[in-house]
Amino acid sequence: VVDVDGVHIGGGSIAVIAGPCAVEALDELSETADAVKAAGAVLLSSGAYKPRTSPYAFAGLRERGLELLASVKARTRLPIVTEVQDTETLCRVAAVADMLLVSARNMGNLALLAAIGDTGKPVLLKRGLSATVDEWLLAAEYIASRGNERVVLCERGIRTFDTHTKATLDLGVIPYLRGLTHLPIAIDPCHSSGRRDSVPALCRAAVAAGADALALEVHRDPSCAVMDGEQSIDHDELARVMADVRAIARALGRTVVEV
Ligand code: PEP
Ligand code: MN
Repeated sequence: VVDVDGVHIGGGSIAVIAGPCAVEALDELSETADAVKAAGAVLLSSGAYKPRTSPYAFAGLRERGLELLASVKARTRLPIVTEVQDTETLCRVAAVADMLLVSARNMGNLALLAAIGDTGKPVLLKRGLSATVDEWLLAAEYIASRGNERVVLCERGIRTFDTHTKATLDLGVIPYLRGLTHLPIAIDPCHSSGRRDSVPALCRAAVAAGADALALEVHRDPSCAVMDGEQSIDHDELARVMADVRAIARALGRTVVEV
């Protein structure tokens, strides 16, 4: 069980992590944080540092984004999950983050994994775009071998021959990982499908398959989001997803983490 500022991930209950892909502005972050809390999600996720595929794309508000996250946490008390992009900025990010997000493209950044191991902070370790399970678990081992065992594995879709969705969500990895590791498992239905209309069904399936956590992208108005809007759900959809998650959890004798 990984304790993130009092929120427990693993151990049978389902924890929902949600927020806008990137910190864009105080009003959007603040309204979405309120919606996240009202829906019953327990951790607020959003990136201040956003390394992108294109060097010309918006790469986050950086320092200013961290300040906005800190101010929203102070008001809502929601623990913060935010991306760390490199060893240079790790200290600043770790000062605000309750959980560090390692993105898919950084899963193999061994210097970063080792440095994160030294912080002792909880980590949401995304599976690399084309990473095997062994490579993913060894990335977790890089963090754990420095004495930080507070790692949650996050399946976010892998690259396959099929391109009808952004990536192929590997739900089969949940029961497979259960036989290999005690680490909690999160599912990200947004980066895997790349389509907001797929997100509710994939959330239901992930809970049914035994996920310990869901990591969701939520925005006040996804059509206007600066990034990943096409795969982000709005506040009303988050409330509906949470109702489904509770219903499926109940049917399986599981619970949803509440604060
Ligand atoms: C993200 O969580 O916004 C992100 C960068 O996702 P991924 O690393 O899964 O592409
Ligand atoms: Mn994103």
